[in-house]
Amino acid sequence: MSIVEIILACSAGFLKALQLTMCPRRTREVSAASAASDVNDSNVSSSVGSGVVWKWSNSQIDSNPSASAACATSTVRCHAASGSIPAYSPVQPWGTMIPTFTMHLFLCRHRRNAAPRWKRTPPQGLLHVACKVSWSCAREAPASCGSVRAVSSRDALLDPADLPGTMRGVVLPGGRTVEWRDVPIPRPGPRQVLVRVRASSICGSDIRAIYREHLGRGAEAYQDVIAGHEPAGEAVALGEGCRRVRVGDRVAIYHIAGCGMCDECRRGYMIGCHGESRAAYGWQRDGGHAPYLLAEEVTCIPLPDELSFVDGASAACSGGTAYEAVLRIGVSGRDALLVTGLGPVGLAVALVARGLGVRRVLASDPSPERRQLAASLGLVDASWDGSEGTLDAVLEASGGGVEASVDASGAAAGRRLAVAALRDWGRCAWVGEGGTVELPVSPLVIHKQVAIHGSWVTSLEHMAELLDRLVRWDLRLESLVTDRLPLDAAGEAYAIADRGAAGKVCLVLD
Ligand SMILES: [Zn+2]
Ligand SMILES: [Zn+2]
Repeated sequence: MSIVEIILACSAGFLKALQLTMCPRRTREVSAASAASDVNDSNVSSSVGSGVVWKWSNSQIDSNPSASAACATSTVRCHAASGSIPAYSPVQPWGTMIPTFTMHLFLCRHRRNAAPRWKRTPPQGLLHVACKVSWSCAREAPASCGSVRAVSSRDALLDPADLPGTMRGVVLPGGRTVEWRDVPIPRPGPRQVLVRVRASSICGSDIRAIYREHLGRGAEAYQDVIAGHEPAGEAVALGEGCRRVRVGDRVAIYHIAGCGMCDECRRGYMIGCHGESRAAYGWQRDGGHAPYLLAEEVTCIPLPDELSFVDGASAACSGGTAYEAVLRIGVSGRDALLVTGLGPVGLAVALVARGLGVRRVLASDPSPERRQLAASLGLVDASWDGSEGTLDAVLEASGGGVEASVDASGAAAGRRLAVAALRDWGRCAWVGEGGTVELPVSPLVIHKQVAIHGSWVTSLEHMAELLDRLVRWDLRLESLVTDRLPLDAAGEAYAIADRGAAGKVCLVLD
């Protein structure tokens, strides 16, 4: 089995030591600046196939090797020989997901008889002093590095034995209160990932159905768990059988773990899972308002290096909900778009619409602060408070009606405006939760031949696609965050979100 060998030197002194011991015919040095492109162009092969490296995680590689390690491994994902494209499947990852190849990184120290040893935590500063990356392709591992070792699912950046036994997390008993609970730090089981939470944002549903009072039933029933269903962080330990996530990966977490077997799960829409084991983080299983989160591997979505953890958290529910809505009704640069409700989801709708090329974004929201925020971010061209006269203003501003609209208000008046402002054959998506519908059906729906779609959160695939497109568009969901607070200030954060005048509110953990 041929392998790709990578030698990483992480400090000038260490590099010098490496240069003395590495086999020159097997290696060539490249600068850190060009390493990624060199590696990305590599042809690699393994027992599961061959392909071309398309992604190489610097953070993964940087995080594992150390001066005391003899060998380290990282993973790259490759275009399969069949030409399939990257995708993430909750059910048959080997059927539709890109094969994961293992790249073995040898810190070629030529320590005879020295068994490969893993450094549990990288020395402070190691990640930032990598000065050169050397890599090569070799048919065999250098003898000094021992035999090629299989990637172990037990690999951990943090040895579970090193973790403290308990942590403090946030629970929401209702009545606009926040309480703290000491809980054991979980250990990952099969196909599970222990994530060190770095950002955990607050969703409107947390306020509507949990914080004020426990309104939820069924999928929205809060079961007295650690709250927070918009988490992002770093994988620090893996359970048995993990095949895609590697220790050190930055991930955003799709916020529902479905059964994996029902039709909705097989489509990637775990939000609509019909299985008994369905559980949403922060609703029926512990969520992100704590230092650590136990996640199912399939719900861990790779977070591009260009995006922050706050970006990732914001995509987990509200951003994904917004993206799904505009995809559902096919919004493009051809359309003028009306957004009713400029809470975090409505703001995100406007943001992704800009990414899709929409030049005319109109909006309504009773809150002058939110309208001002949307305008200052350049997300809307005009907005109104939703009172009488707003419909006429929208019709005039759009030349007779918008082609597409999204209601993110959850209010009957917002839904009516979203439909009434459509021109003939217009399309509308409703994502604002709760409330009722009050509109005259014949003149507003049937006779205008409009289509109204209900849309609930998003799919695993579309969440990953959103993160990719945000990089491509150079847009950041983080820009919608108006309030960042530490986990200890969760009570204040919820009070801010409850007032309904802020943009996104996010808890940030160091
Ligand atoms: Zn399911
Ligand atoms: Zn949510």
